[in-house]
Amino acid sequence: MDSTWINAPAKINIGLDVIRRREDGYHEVKMIMQSIRLFDRLTLTKSKIPGVHLKTNLRFLPVDENNLVHRSAKLLMEEFKIEGGVDIQLDKRIPVAAGMAGGSTDAASCMLAMNQLYDLGLGKRQLMKRGLRLGADIPYCILKGTALAEGIGEKLSTIPQTPDCYILIAKPGIHVSTKFVYTNLVLDENTPHPDIDSMIAAMKKRDLKELCDNMGNVLETVTIPAHPEIAEIKKCMLENGAMGSLMSGSGPSVFGVFDDLDKAKAAKAKCMKLPFRCFAFVTDLYR
Ligand code: ATP
Repeated sequence: MDSTWINAPAKINIGLDVIRRREDGYHEVKMIMQSIRLFDRLTLTKSKIPGVHLKTNLRFLPVDENNLVHRSAKLLMEEFKIEGGVDIQLDKRIPVAAGMAGGSTDAASCMLAMNQLYDLGLGKRQLMKRGLRLGADIPYCILKGTALAEGIGEKLSTIPQTPDCYILIAKPGIHVSTKFVYTNLVLDENTPHPDIDSMIAAMKKRDLKELCDNMGNVLETVTIPAHPEIAEIKKCMLENGAMGSLMSGSGPSVFGVFDDLDKAKAAKAKCMKLPFRCFAFVTDLYR
């Protein structure tokens, strides 16, 4: 095999809680991760020219070691002393810096594809161990589907699947710094923590309504006051048939949960009429 391709799915956080700030500066989290059918595409081709040669359709993205795809390919090439090089074409559709783990899923998929292209014989767990060296979300992005992430995001456990539903993603054209959000997060007795365990219980009962009623993301307490557009999108989704609506990760992407495709499409049209630029996309869950 000289060439292969792979789809890298985006993720949303159906629930996101921050338990505490550790002494080393990292945050202990409790998050429900869910892959959705919004994909970047990676095409990998063996090359006689040594090194990693990355190209992407987004001109502003780095193609050197500042791109997680480059780093993940290099990590495996060095460990397995792969001769020659690899050409990688990265076609991005997942919005960048949106809270949907775009970079992490690209790196995860690159490792999966390298494993296949060069017949490295690594199992998922072995790839996850290597992925963790590059980022806390990468092990989950190798596993995909529905999972509970704890620790700094790397401790994964299987939980019941999210019930079937349609997802509307809307991302306002604003920039949110993940560092700003975590630095400004206040964790005290007034912090409204989502009840992740109740969410898992609702998933076990396959009760979409109860799940939506319990959805929460503690990072909204920082991002929404700084960017009121996020609250406007949530309101728009809820007024137009969403069973629940939440910011994903540290933002600024917002998702809405719908039990009906037409309702999701109609809400998308409404979101696109909001008085600011908004990328919107209807999709469903990736199992
Ligand atoms: P998370 O949800 O994990 O916080 P995100 O979706 O908010 O991630 P990314 O899209 O991964 O954020 O991008 C964050 C930064 O990482 C960007 O500013 C970009 O320069 C850099 N980056 C490195 N590699 C990639 C990649 N393959 N795709 C997108 N961004 C990348």
